[in-house]
Amino acid sequence: MNVDLERELRRLREQAATEVVRWPSREPIWTAVYNLTRGRIDRRPRYTTGQLPALDSPWQDTDSGRYFGWRCRRANLNRGQAFVMEYIVCPHCRIGWVDKPYTIERYQRGGLAAAALRALREEHSGMAWHTGSGHVSSSKAFWVRVGDGVEGGYLPRKLCVHVARHGGVLPDWLLKRRGDL
Ligand SMILES: [Zn+2]
Repeated sequence: MNVDLERELRRLREQAATEVVRWPSREPIWTAVYNLTRGRIDRRPRYTTGQLPALDSPWQDTDSGRYFGWRCRRANLNRGQAFVMEYIVCPHCRIGWVDKPYTIERYQRGGLAAAALRALREEHSGMAWHTGSGHVSSSKAFWVRVGDGVEGGYLPRKLCVHVARHGGVLPDWLLKRRGDL
């Protein structure tokens, strides 16, 4: 890794908690309609990965294009995507799940994933952290390293009853109807 790239990656790591632009600020109207109609009218926008914007910021936090209702945290470098990861936080259980962190090959081993995970822990303090999928063998050492000293340790854990793989954190009226609240 050359010196310039090392410097760029260090700067990007330092910006992980502070230089984050968020998009969109949710869709309050369609979320309200969805809740008021108890799900009969659901026009909440569902984006695909290709529809997500590349924001002019070192880090961005957008809707997920992979799992509806989740968020996507991403780092940008040299006008391209450097790192991307999906996550969801359950306010009832105070558990966060992260899923499928991926760093573009030329930026790998630059600490971007660890910096992103740390930034999310700072934003959501007092939570336990897990992974939503099993660990492939090539990533086991990574999870052991980043999970050291973290509550939950990023061990694989099933989603709780309040969170759906597609749908994110479910609304209170639906959880009550199901008897899960
Ligand atoms: Zn929960």
